[in-house]
Amino acid sequence: MTDTRSLLATTAVMAADHLEGLATRGAAPTDVALAALQTLPGELADDSLGADQVVEELHRLGAPATMGLPGGRYFGFVNGGTLPAALAADWLVSAWDQNAALSIMSPIAAHAEQISLRWVRELLGLPADGESAFVTGASVANATGLAAARDEVLRRVGWNVGSQGLFGAPPIAVYVGGEAHSTVHKALGLIGMGRDRVLNLPVDAEGTIIPADLPTISGPSIVCLQAGNVNSGGSDPFAPLIEWAHEAGAWVHVDGAFGLWSAASPQLRHLVAGVGEADSWATDGHKWLNVPYDSGIVTVRDGSHLSAALGTQAAYLPGDGREAMHLTPQSSQRARGVVAWAALRHLGRSGVAELVERCCRHAARFGESMTAAGHTVMNDVVINQVVISFGSDETTTKVISNIQTDGTIWAGPTVWQGKAAMRFSVSSWATTDDDIDAAVAAVARAVAQAS
Ligand SMILES: *Cc1c(COP(=O)(O)O)cnc(C)c1O
Repeated sequence: MTDTRSLLATTAVMAADHLEGLATRGAAPTDVALAALQTLPGELADDSLGADQVVEELHRLGAPATMGLPGGRYFGFVNGGTLPAALAADWLVSAWDQNAALSIMSPIAAHAEQISLRWVRELLGLPADGESAFVTGASVANATGLAAARDEVLRRVGWNVGSQGLFGAPPIAVYVGGEAHSTVHKALGLIGMGRDRVLNLPVDAEGTIIPADLPTISGPSIVCLQAGNVNSGGSDPFAPLIEWAHEAGAWVHVDGAFGLWSAASPQLRHLVAGVGEADSWATDGHKWLNVPYDSGIVTVRDGSHLSAALGTQAAYLPGDGREAMHLTPQSSQRARGVVAWAALRHLGRSGVAELVERCCRHAARFGESMTAAGHTVMNDVVINQVVISFGSDETTTKVISNIQTDGTIWAGPTVWQGKAAMRFSVSSWATTDDDIDAAVAAVARAVAQAS
């Protein structure tokens, strides 16, 4: 039997070696690493293997086959990098092995969760007396917020979704922006609204809803808005849209997976002005707050709507306070609130603002360098997202492929305004000026090779 203390100490050294090694390795695994990964034992053994050997095997074969998210040169999707304070807190959470479902299962999980969620609401300009809960990500946060919306708009016309379901229910009109995130459609499908029966609102070149000629809303209705388009970073004009929706009694849900964090910066807050007037919000901790996966947050203006949709009853599941399992789709759950608490305790209010602003500055400089090099930046770089075309779709695709083969940085493809483009997202505390210089140089090499 391996001594637990020495196992954890050895593992900590492996983890530190891995993180330090990211500075000198590529942002993606090499072909050699991917070939070695195929030797990771895939047959279930009859006999046991020592914990130290298991961890050694994982470190040796697994670490080189990781993408470099915690390094500063990974610009793919909108994937954050983990803050050291959050990583360390996450280790404690694993060692503590708490079930955050109910406060009697874990006083620390329940307490840290309440504090961190109150802090998140304050930073994001959401109602102080609202209710929030941790889920796996913005996808599930969207589904959770929209389930609360669905139940409440039908309750107002005398229909109880929880007990009667949706068969025979009055229809709900659902409005979404033409550039809503795919997970909003998935969430709408999951809660029985249908992915395709939504009414699309026209959007501008940044993918944000045009607040003119808006349709007349009547009957039970939900309007889905967005803070931070996943390509352009643009946010819907919340004030006029929420006013339009609320005049007709519609519920407004905001998908703000990363863009909502603009509200934490005095410099950027104007981009999401009015967002706090909505009824529910989805955001991520694992994107811009830079906590480890997974961490999503749903917030609802009136907490009773969350518990009405997500609560459960059973004699052995007591709880007279705020109970996570009665606010979320999951019962047993990780103590995500402890990790968010650590990240926020570490950064403080100014640290969160600085993290967000720094990412945006890096993105702006990268965008300017692309323009100076003669490439087309296709979006207004308002926050941390840059969408670049290198010419024809074919050339752009070739350049992205060359960048990925070069391996210094990693960024992926998208389609924007009907054209192939590279999407470059600066979402990590770890990215430095040198990393942006390295990215500009990597693009130049990739472009030279493509011509
Ligand atoms: C990332 C993202 C999502 C999905 O979030 P997950 O954390 O991956 O579930 C939803 N909406 C937007 C705008 C996003 O950027």
